[in-house]
Amino acid sequence: MNRSAIVIGAGIVGLATARALAISGYEVMVIDRSAFATGASVRNFGMVWPIGQPEGLLRERALRTRAVWESICKESGMWNDPSGSLHLAYCESEMEVLENFIRKSGKERSYRLLTSSEVMKKSSCVVHHGLRGGLYSADELIVDPPNAISRLAAFLQEKYSVRFSWNTHAHSIEQGRVSCGKVNYEADEVFICSGADFRNLLPESFIQEPITICKLQMMRLGPQPAGWQLGPSLCGGLSLLHYAGFRLAGSSLEGLREYIVSKYPDYVRWGIHVMVAQHASGELVIGDSHEYGDSHDPFDKAFINRMILEYLFGFARFPSESISASWNGQYSKLTDGRTELVLRPAPGVTIINALGGAGMTMSFGLAEEVVGGRYGVL
Ligand SMILES: Cc1cc2nc3c(=O)[nH]c(=O)nc-3n(C[C@H](O)[C@H](O)[C@H](O)COP(=O)(O)OP(=O)(O)OC[C@H]3O[C@@H](n4cnc5c(N)ncnc54)[C@H](O)[C@@H]3O)c2cc1C
Repeated sequence: MNRSAIVIGAGIVGLATARALAISGYEVMVIDRSAFATGASVRNFGMVWPIGQPEGLLRERALRTRAVWESICKESGMWNDPSGSLHLAYCESEMEVLENFIRKSGKERSYRLLTSSEVMKKSSCVVHHGLRGGLYSADELIVDPPNAISRLAAFLQEKYSVRFSWNTHAHSIEQGRVSCGKVNYEADEVFICSGADFRNLLPESFIQEPITICKLQMMRLGPQPAGWQLGPSLCGGLSLLHYAGFRLAGSSLEGLREYIVSKYPDYVRWGIHVMVAQHASGELVIGDSHEYGDSHDPFDKAFINRMILEYLFGFARFPSESISASWNGQYSKLTDGRTELVLRPAPGVTIINALGGAGMTMSFGLAEEVVGGRYGVL
């Protein structure tokens, strides 16, 4: 008889875990307290973003995750845009980081350093004034989060017979038994993928962990004229400091840090870096800011949105710049540099959490590693 597993949480981490378990022969049931996923996994950019990851295991994990997204999109007909990314440089220190990054990243990468006129050919909305050049990478892929997450659940149900129980809040877990009020479920293995609200189940498991919650503000612009295309997702210079992948650029990053700290202190203060991607509807999704703490006020700060827009319009302009939506999302993150939390609080119970700002980029790869035994939990 097949072994059975319950996955708590139908965000990207839970769904990727359900996929990996089903492929390795488990009968899987996913439960989520909401009627559909409403957490970080549907509030993000949908950027599957290998360029942000450092060389080695993390970049391999990102590339593996991208390959899984690609094959699921192909098989299920899910919308995606494999148009890559374009990082823009408007000052000497940004350009130096891009040059060093490309020099050190090796020839087998898909990266290309572009002159300002080559950038303009790739993306007509980029602001030409003051542009020094850019870095194009073909590796990045965009999915449309609310659509992608619901399609992914349907795909798992259809292809791997994963069962879903929505509107089902897990209250406690004991010896393979998950209590959800009126219903109880039992399985050989239970995986808890509860995202930023991790304290609602086995809170004692997290007490010793240096874990925090990050709140991010996002907006959507548009709709854009029919058929108008952004092309590669765009990033300004602040993103070069945000992503660990650019540490490869070495000491030039320190020069950029000094420049940014003196020119944009408030952006540093609110953890703002600015990116833009286009989704299936044609609208542009833009963000974001990073505020860290145990709890957050539920409201968006208007001045943060203004700062994001001001920085954005310094490097790109669009046919429609009206804001069609704004929201915030939260994710959990470790503060000691680890990139995920995989815990075994009791026999048969595994916690997978704290993928920070990279859940869409890392989950499929990480889940395969966990189920494949890398973390010693199975
Ligand atoms: C604004 C924003 C932008 C981001 N951009 C990107 C990006 O472009 N690329 C990228 O790679 N990453 C990005 N991220 C990070 C990424 O979204 C997260 O890492 C990822 O979504 C976390 O997934 P999760 O499954 O852990 O959490 P969630 O998506 O929050 O899912 C957790 C689920 O668990 C359920 N749950 C919790 N407790 C229980 C319980 N007791 N019983 C039943 N169900 C329960 C919740 O209902 C929820 O559906 C971004 C995040 C944010 C917030």
